[in-house]
Amino acid sequence: MVASHEDLIPLKPWGGTDVTCPLCGTEQSSHGEFIFQGIHIVAKHTCLQCGQPFYTTLPTGHDMLYPATFTEQGSHLNCEQSAISWLIEPLLESLFRETAVTASITKKGQSTAEDAIILNCLDNVYGHVFTKMWNAVVLRRKHPDVHLIVLVPRALAWLVPDDVPEVWVFDVPLKELRRGIANLDTEIKSRMESLTNVWLSKAYTHLDLETIDLKKLHRTEPFDLSRFSSLKPTITFVLREDRLWQPTRLEYFLFLVATKFKLSRSLFVWMQNRRVVRTARKILRALPNAELFAAGLGATGKLPAFIHDRRKREPTLTDETTWCQLYARSHIVIGIHGSNMLLPTALSAGFIAIMPRHKIRHMAEDIAMVKPSRFLLFLGRHVDQYAGPDLVSRHAVSMIRYFPYVYKNATQGI
Ligand SMILES: [Zn+2]
Repeated sequence: MVASHEDLIPLKPWGGTDVTCPLCGTEQSSHGEFIFQGIHIVAKHTCLQCGQPFYTTLPTGHDMLYPATFTEQGSHLNCEQSAISWLIEPLLESLFRETAVTASITKKGQSTAEDAIILNCLDNVYGHVFTKMWNAVVLRRKHPDVHLIVLVPRALAWLVPDDVPEVWVFDVPLKELRRGIANLDTEIKSRMESLTNVWLSKAYTHLDLETIDLKKLHRTEPFDLSRFSSLKPTITFVLREDRLWQPTRLEYFLFLVATKFKLSRSLFVWMQNRRVVRTARKILRALPNAELFAAGLGATGKLPAFIHDRRKREPTLTDETTWCQLYARSHIVIGIHGSNMLLPTALSAGFIAIMPRHKIRHMAEDIAMVKPSRFLLFLGRHVDQYAGPDLVSRHAVSMIRYFPYVYKNATQGI
């Protein structure tokens, strides 16, 4: 049995929690009843003062940063305003408008262990699942003798570290997970019956990577900086078709209109492809021996032969492995914030992230690069959403030409 830890919430036995009724404002200690919704775990309480039911989210994942309380049908909602649309509204719809989907669950490694920690990595955002999974490495290190149960969507099950003893794989498309899993509550409660002590991991959403060996997840050796100048310059564009590089205000505005009226985005993808090609040409003019690749989700439009096209609409496990190897040999990965840059930046030497202005507050959430500070400053570039091929290629060429001097300076003996 583990002693109490600040990174774990005891679910069984559960001592209750201090809560405030959103209806009458009465502070009270309450046991409540757990509801395992999917992304969220919620406790349902009955107010000791006014007798009305109300709900609180348990502090795991993003609910730790943005806790919410509400009453039936989601009224009397108390939550940070910026988290409502993407985090809490889908939860309320799931609880009160029955939007949840039933998942086929594959369970591997169930044992007769008496105690267990549950790490819930279910999320509809790829990067969120990935960063919650980092907790698995820490939990195995801190509590190696306690059985660990990881809940993960099928699309990212390949990232579960080998030393996790029990894994539940949910066969639901990633984007559907925001609707909730209808059969999760029954399944978890049934599993808990066979356990004496159960803790819930707080599933921190962006742990300090200096203490975590991400290789346990992606199983790939990252770029070796000591070989930066001896390897052929390799640059990989990490692309998506719903997060686009749009360096003019008019194009960005038209894209928002097209999205609002659910019009085809093919034209915008084609325009993105065009500026990738222009950037690649500029890089090749300065660095004729460079190798260029495109990776990521999508396959719209043909790219010229000098850009090796590794994009996939529905990547297989083999594709994911191939991408990891490609990122790990890339001097630079170039992508738009939100185009799944976590894995690429965890493996490449450097990156150029194109930042939409409305994402400025989310700076660095999309980056998993671990480098000494001067290297990070030189090899990690953020450029404005309106940066065009001229500026992006200028950064890329400069990084490749001049990092060897930075490296040599920084690694000289004193
Ligand atoms: Zn009350």
